[in-house]
Amino acid sequence: MTATDMPRKLILLYGSMTLVICAAVAGMVSASNSPFRTFALAAIAFLIILVPGFLLLRSINRNVREVTDSARKIAAGQYGYLIKVPGLGDAGELARAFNGMSAELADHFARIEQDSLQLRAVLGGMIEGVVAIDAQQRLLFANERGGQLLGFNMKTAVGLRFWEVVRQRSIVAIVEKALEKGESLREEFDWKGNPAKTLLIHVSPLRENPGGAIVVVHDTSDLRRLERLRHEFVANVSHELKTPLAVIKASVETLQDGAVEDTENRGMFLGQILDQAERLNNLILDMLSLARIESGSERLQSTRVSLAEAVQDCFDRHIAQVELRKQHLEMIPPEEPSAAEIYTDEEALMQILDNLVDNALKYTQEGSHIRVRWYGLGDHICIEVQDDGPGIPEEDQPRIFERFYRVDKARSRELGGTGLGLAIVKNLAHTMKGSVSVRSLPGQGATFTVSLPRMLQ
Ligand code: ADP
Repeated sequence: MTATDMPRKLILLYGSMTLVICAAVAGMVSASNSPFRTFALAAIAFLIILVPGFLLLRSINRNVREVTDSARKIAAGQYGYLIKVPGLGDAGELARAFNGMSAELADHFARIEQDSLQLRAVLGGMIEGVVAIDAQQRLLFANERGGQLLGFNMKTAVGLRFWEVVRQRSIVAIVEKALEKGESLREEFDWKGNPAKTLLIHVSPLRENPGGAIVVVHDTSDLRRLERLRHEFVANVSHELKTPLAVIKASVETLQDGAVEDTENRGMFLGQILDQAERLNNLILDMLSLARIESGSERLQSTRVSLAEAVQDCFDRHIAQVELRKQHLEMIPPEEPSAAEIYTDEEALMQILDNLVDNALKYTQEGSHIRVRWYGLGDHICIEVQDDGPGIPEEDQPRIFERFYRVDKARSRELGGTGLGLAIVKNLAHTMKGSVSVRSLPGQGATFTVSLPRMLQ
């Protein structure tokens, strides 16, 4: 038994001892006739009773204080705090019960914290924004994406009202309506902020007390942009097909109406039919090529290609065009031998060169000069096609790689262009893990640069 352990038996012993001492002193006092002796006996008896009583009280007090202090520490957040077990008696039992409760509390809180961390990690990793509000629209929680999409700082927004942090009235209105009606609502909004985006908002009110709602926000901008592109593409294709078909139809009708007998003019109508059929054919071939590249079904095969040979082959394919308009094609190989070859898809490289050289010949004046040079840049090889034609206005440069975008529509059509050549070049370059860019000053020609990895994996 330790000094701090004070079981019930000890209190009983102390009580009985006090009674015995009181009885003995009373006996002695009645037998004595000296007042001084009586006083001395009473004083000794008082001391004999007082000292153990004081020790007993101090020990009980110390245990109670220790339990109180420990309870305060746990309340302050030190879950799992343990009291030193003071022996086997009642105090020991109380301490052990207290320690058990403390360990259980620590376990409980650790689990709650773990669950909360997991939940935050899941919500933090979501691409959807999630915002929880109470029945008074006060923000209880928002993940980072929620703040990003709705334009508020999630760290400072908690506790504020939804309408205080989300500045778009229409979005606040749908949340208010869902809270009021107690039913889930979803709607798409054009976000007025910068950058502009399309947001799909889904509000689910919480039916149980104390109410509130969960607001889930999806960024549907990419989806809408793709939809818009698809619509534009369909509209563009219909438009591109309509004109040559109309010319073919009109020419055939004219021939049917008698022009077939007109030996002088029927050649012109037949020529028109042939030209337009050629145009349709080119358009369909380019569209198929683009669709194949974009769908990713184009399987690239990396082989060793001599760039000088590839460029020469491309020049040979354009010889008729060059001679007709007295243009000049020049090849400028690099001095560094390491840039002489590239490991890439030969067919895709040819298609890129053909499109760029064809454009350079088409959009420049008679007698123009076109130079093709290439050089190594880190682990890439840059191929430049430079002409001395009219160049491309600065405002058109960012758009010329879009499908069907032409600087001068009439001229492109007249030259047999489909408006898809540069879109094919861009898509091919990306598929080959490279890129394409243009530099041009109006009146000073245009330079297209294609950068491709030296070794396509
Ligand atoms: P297209 O079939 O009309 O040639 P492209 O996609 O190949 O379509 O080119 C898009 C537009 O870019 C062309 O219509 C033309 O206006 C412009 N362009 C392309 N290459 C050149 C160039 N070398 N010089 C001037 N303009 C060019």
